[in-house]
Amino acid sequence: VDALVVAVASLSEQPRRFVLEAPLEWWASASLPETLPSDVREPLRLELEGYCLGRRLLFRGRLRGRVDLACGRCGEPYRHALEERVSLLLEPLPSHAPQPEHGLVLDEDDLELGRYAGERIDFSAVMVEAVMTAWPMQPRCGETCRGLCPRCGENLNRADCACARAGVSRPLAGLAALLGRGPARDDEP
Ligand SMILES: [Zn+2]
Ligand SMILES: [Zn+2]
Repeated sequence: VDALVVAVASLSEQPRRFVLEAPLEWWASASLPETLPSDVREPLRLELEGYCLGRRLLFRGRLRGRVDLACGRCGEPYRHALEERVSLLLEPLPSHAPQPEHGLVLDEDDLELGRYAGERIDFSAVMVEAVMTAWPMQPRCGETCRGLCPRCGENLNRADCACARAGVSRPLAGLAALLGRGPARDDEP
């Protein structure tokens, strides 16, 4: 994808800022892992600073963007801000090595390392890895989400249900009964 390509010739020893924005079509067409949605509605960006150190290329920055998710606690849709630090050190591939299709191979064990070849580096794989890392395992609409009432299903962010009050009074009722019985037994003889 052209929007995710960095030309090696555009890098120098002076850090330069790149904003690589994955177009919406890319989410639908790219061979993304199944865990990632294809219906992203807002482009996600890699905001990077890149420079070279001899023939090594260094990139640092962040993935930024927002995606629509459903809260794992209350089930309501919400806008989730994705943000992930990205850091990448690329070494040139030896010219006799098989040349990668996108000009880039990421190290399988350390995603901050990779090899590049040719004049154009496609950051699609970097985008995929950053999104997968940033993707929340347990999406939450907010830190204080109270979720649904397990008894009546009411969204407790919107309203308190009657179960909450009943739930509070029940242990007290049990305690009262216990206390009530205790002295009663003592009084029996
Ligand atoms: Zn929620
Ligand atoms: Zn309830």
